[in-house]
Amino acid sequence: MMISSLHLLSPIPPKKTPTTTIRSSHSSFLDLTPTSRPEPVNVDIRLHSQSKPASDYDTVVIGCGPAGLRIAGLAAARGLRVCCVDPDPLSGWRNNYGSWVDEFAELGLDDCFDAIWPRATVVIRDGGKGKDLDRPYGRVGRKEMKVRLMEKCADNGVAFHKAKAWTVDHQEFRSEVRCSDGCDIRASLVIDASGFTSPFMEYDKPRDSGFQIAHGILAEVESHPFDLDKMVLMDWSDSHLDNEPYLRPNNEKISTFLYAMPFDSNLVFLEETSLVSRPVLSYTEIKKRMVARLRHLGIKVKRVIEDEKCLIPMGGPLPMIPQSVMGMGGTAGLVHPATGYSVARGLRAAPIVADAMAELLGSTRMVRGRQLQQRIWSSLWTAEMKGEREFYRFGMETLLKMDLEGTRRFFDAFFDLEPRYWQGFLSTRLSLSELASLCLSLFGHASNSSRLDIVTKCPAPLARMVGNLALQAV
Ligand SMILES: Cc1cc2nc3c(=O)[nH]c(=O)nc-3n(C[C@H](O)[C@H](O)[C@H](O)COP(=O)(O)OP(=O)(O)OC[C@H]3O[C@@H](n4cnc5c(N)ncnc54)[C@H](O)[C@@H]3O)c2cc1C
Repeated sequence: MMISSLHLLSPIPPKKTPTTTIRSSHSSFLDLTPTSRPEPVNVDIRLHSQSKPASDYDTVVIGCGPAGLRIAGLAAARGLRVCCVDPDPLSGWRNNYGSWVDEFAELGLDDCFDAIWPRATVVIRDGGKGKDLDRPYGRVGRKEMKVRLMEKCADNGVAFHKAKAWTVDHQEFRSEVRCSDGCDIRASLVIDASGFTSPFMEYDKPRDSGFQIAHGILAEVESHPFDLDKMVLMDWSDSHLDNEPYLRPNNEKISTFLYAMPFDSNLVFLEETSLVSRPVLSYTEIKKRMVARLRHLGIKVKRVIEDEKCLIPMGGPLPMIPQSVMGMGGTAGLVHPATGYSVARGLRAAPIVADAMAELLGSTRMVRGRQLQQRIWSSLWTAEMKGEREFYRFGMETLLKMDLEGTRRFFDAFFDLEPRYWQGFLSTRLSLSELASLCLSLFGHASNSSRLDIVTKCPAPLARMVGNLALQAV
């Protein structure tokens, strides 16, 4: 795909309320009410018939997010009988998703972007020249993608049930999902794609997740300082805190950066983001830092079109493997432990799991119950992949130990690596041996103070990673 400039493929959402630019020094964009909500999608779907025998399905998928719809459509296309349960299957997704374009291109979904930037940039410190990354980045057109995944489901006969899944009960060879409307739906396999707050996943190790937290707005602004042909992946500058010095000490310990997608000279998505913290950084503090940053950048918000609170658990242990319910997407440990991204990863994993489902559920071999669960889980989490995840977890633990200066030095060295390393790391594509080479190369590129950081702050996470790798090898 050739991309030479920003393609903005969707129109600015219609104005719904009069615009009032925030001018008073005591008020901010936080006082503005978002004027728009994601629209529902319009796809003809087949509803689950409650009069049918309850044991009709091979699979019940809980949740119509990206992961749930993708696995449902692919499983049905392989001949399986699938039902999706969601409180509102046709509702519009709320999250603003961004992704590297190549990740969607390899899935044949790059026509689902509604804006593409030919480059991304990373600003390490104030006044410094940004590091331009020669890798196109896109904003996912949520509506286009949901329609695309829903149509695949509809074309392959997936049934939908509009309700919340309450409980899942298991017998030896079948499971039953009890829904909020009293309906029970039975299937050989239940897939939980209900997002990372799922009550259905079990863990056999303490959950020591870190958290990404961010406040984002899609805003109409008087003007902004960003180049239209670059999205800002991370801006670690902190001079805006000169005006709010009381915010500085904590930012030095748990720093936040700006993520920005400039669509045109007056429309921009802005997100103040804490990459990872444990315990989670206060949401109020994030918003205060964002107010200070936008003031400093001279960005006057005329209208908040949408806002989002982003809270993503990262790292921590995998769910117990195997267990009676299969996970997909955010429930299955597919969130990148060091970046919080998971959409592309969840979409990429789905065909592998769908193939395993078709082989096991679609055949006459009657692989069911514990054996089925074991084999489906191992299709998603092979021993090699579990080992790779330990490396990514180590990356997160390392970031957790770093203050603002350490984080800057780390990313300065990281984005100087050969593109195959940093790109592969961000897209969870590196093998164990490539990850080991990346670590060596990163150490080689790092400044002396950054090396000191790694040596003094990382022994515990490193020892834990080596221990976990050894345990997995046994
Ligand atoms: C604000 C925000 C922004 C993000 N931005 C990005 C990004 O730019 N790029 C990226 O890669 N990742 C991003 N992520 C992380 C992650 O990729 C997303 O959270 C993604 O939506 C996970 O997809 P999913 O399908 O696993 O779950 P979800 O998208 O959370 O979908 C879960 C679905 O299950 C339904 N559900 C929940 N409980 C039940 C129940 N009991 N019964 C039935 N249905 C239920 C929900 O209604 C929902 O439809 C972001 C996360 C957040 C919160």
